[in-house]
Amino acid sequence: ATPTAVMVATGVGANNGVLIKGGDALERAQKIRYVIFDKTGTLTQNRAAVTTVKVFTEMDRGEFLTLVASAEANSEHPIAKAIVEYARHFHFFEDPNVIKSPKNESNTSTNTEWLLDTSDFCATPGKGIEADINQKQILVGNRSMLVEKGVNISTDIEKFLVGLEENAKTGILVAYDYELIGVVGVADPLKREAAIVVEGLFKMGVRSIMVTGDNWRTAKAVANEAGIQDVRAEVMPAGKADVIRSFQKDGSTVAMVGDGINDSPALAAADVGMAIGAGTDIAIEAADYVLMKNNLEDVITAIDLSRKTFARIR
Ligand code: ADP
Ligand code: MG
Repeated sequence: ATPTAVMVATGVGANNGVLIKGGDALERAQKIRYVIFDKTGTLTQNRAAVTTVKVFTEMDRGEFLTLVASAEANSEHPIAKAIVEYARHFHFFEDPNVIKSPKNESNTSTNTEWLLDTSDFCATPGKGIEADINQKQILVGNRSMLVEKGVNISTDIEKFLVGLEENAKTGILVAYDYELIGVVGVADPLKREAAIVVEGLFKMGVRSIMVTGDNWRTAKAVANEAGIQDVRAEVMPAGKADVIRSFQKDGSTVAMVGDGINDSPALAAADVGMAIGAGTDIAIEAADYVLMKNNLEDVITAIDLSRKTFARIR
């Protein structure tokens, strides 16, 4: 393509909310054979919400939620935000599902007095968090985090977790003083266009893969809704780039679509990195494309634009 054609295509992209960082990235997109999608915030809406609260001890629900929220208030993770939000509603309104007036809402959302003091907060990306509350340690995270810390997960609790996960929910385990005291179920709905885009890509000869730090069962359930068969779950942040490389081995052109800090090594490793516009700055910086409308259909727009700009021109 002529420099003018590249310039025109870049302009067409920009007008449609697809920012392309340079002619090389534009050219590479026509050859994409695999698109690796991150799950949380990319295929899903990043509107994690608590669906289930199960307490296994004598502790009452309110006490349990306040304890968990106090620890999670230190974290920026979408799951942490969902838990704090739910606990706040429970604390102020007893019923988390009650519809509140905007006035009520603003009165409580800035109030943090109900949270307990925490110390020694520590986050392990891809696993969870820990902190001290009342001189006892609280752990909030996935199975592998709790098992690593020596917390026992009974068969009954394991069964409960499996039930959540088979329904596309993520089960967050809570241990206090090394005793498993409860589980919080979190759901994050799929983006409405996800399945259509996966099908559209397939028709263009492009295969879709999902990669996530979440557990296998939840990952499979979410991928199934999106029509994705190939899933890589329980992948630590550094491992996402390895997944990209494994698809590049035979010389295939691989795209990565992601939104998080933990996606940035994979976005950089991919032949074409595409960041969700609403994603973190680090992801946007690592990517070749920014999808400003946060709409997955723009993955197709990007490939189309490249094919139309380069295909017929020699
Ligand atoms: P993804 O790759 O889907 O964006 P992450 O790598 O951010 O997911 O996290 C993987 C898993 O680690 C989550 O599904 C959750 O179980 C656990 N986790 C991470 N951070 C937290 C947190 N702040 N609180 C509870 N669980 C967490
Ligand atoms: Mg994500």
